[in-house]
Amino acid sequence: MRALVFDGRTSGYEGGMRLENRESPVAGPGEVLIAPELVGICGTDLHLLDGEYPLGRFPRIAGHEFSGRVLAIGPGVTRFAIGARVCVDPNIACGTCSMCREGAFNLCSNLVPVGVTIDGGFAEAVAVPEKIVHLLPQSLDAQAAALIEPLACVLHAFERAPTLQDASVLVYGAGSIGLLAIALARHQGAARIEVIEPSATRRAAALELGAEVAFAPGERENRRDVRFVIEASGHPAAVADALDRLAPRGVLIQMGVCAPEAQIVLTPFDLFDRELSLIGSQSLSGAYGRAIEVMTMLAPALQGLVSHVFALDEAREAFATARSEMARKVLIRCNPSP
Ligand SMILES: [Zn+2]
Ligand SMILES: [Zn+2]
Repeated sequence: MRALVFDGRTSGYEGGMRLENRESPVAGPGEVLIAPELVGICGTDLHLLDGEYPLGRFPRIAGHEFSGRVLAIGPGVTRFAIGARVCVDPNIACGTCSMCREGAFNLCSNLVPVGVTIDGGFAEAVAVPEKIVHLLPQSLDAQAAALIEPLACVLHAFERAPTLQDASVLVYGAGSIGLLAIALARHQGAARIEVIEPSATRRAAALELGAEVAFAPGERENRRDVRFVIEASGHPAAVADALDRLAPRGVLIQMGVCAPEAQIVLTPFDLFDRELSLIGSQSLSGAYGRAIEVMTMLAPALQGLVSHVFALDEAREAFATARSEMARKVLIRCNPSP
């Protein structure tokens, strides 16, 4: 099979990646062998490519946002038959550690993320445990299916907070996570959705996906009138700015990945005086199955989210595009559509 292999910039692959011919994996006991169709490029993949992702083990086939067809099943697999259309929750949690027992699978102390510490979907075949595989509803095409994993991350973030219904929402950053947050906030009945985003192209995308107003940084009037901030930019300055825009009982959900050493000035009096809540959210915990259901309703509204689809042998161009301002969501086609 052909597979896109990352070396974490440790063994001199040009640009950190190489398309290789490899033996196809086999489905071991309890595993399902899948032919991925469309696979999303995520911020995590860009960090992995640069060798900057702490959990990355190299050389590695990345890719964790995908669906595909079942090619083979290993001994003991009962829920899937060959040919079934499936999608994959890319987090293999142990199920027994203290965080797993609390249902916080994303914080599992033995977490194995597919496409990070074990091989993922940027290949013609990938083997994964049956327990992370879900049947893909008939109504969802491979493009919508590739968006289920990032949608699950946004859904998990929203589930960490009180309801967004009838609330004013301000989103920082209109990359693919920010755009999904806009669409989901709209779907959940937010009263008003605003966005702050430096790129004009992405501001236009935000308006298309359901935001009422899109500001460049510094353009929005300084008012403390927002009930929910979704921080999806990962810029510490945005977090500081956001704290100053929250209304009483305002909630800030931190989804953006700031540099680990980044710091901001926080005024504890503000937390006290306005009863603010700061909520962190990473990955998706158990939200994948619920995200499949939400996607069956949201898919039409997300048509405009995918900006580019590249072939597996155009991966270099795909990743360069994913880093550019042109990109909304960029997908790689690893197998032809059936
Ligand atoms: Zn991702
Ligand atoms: Zn665990």
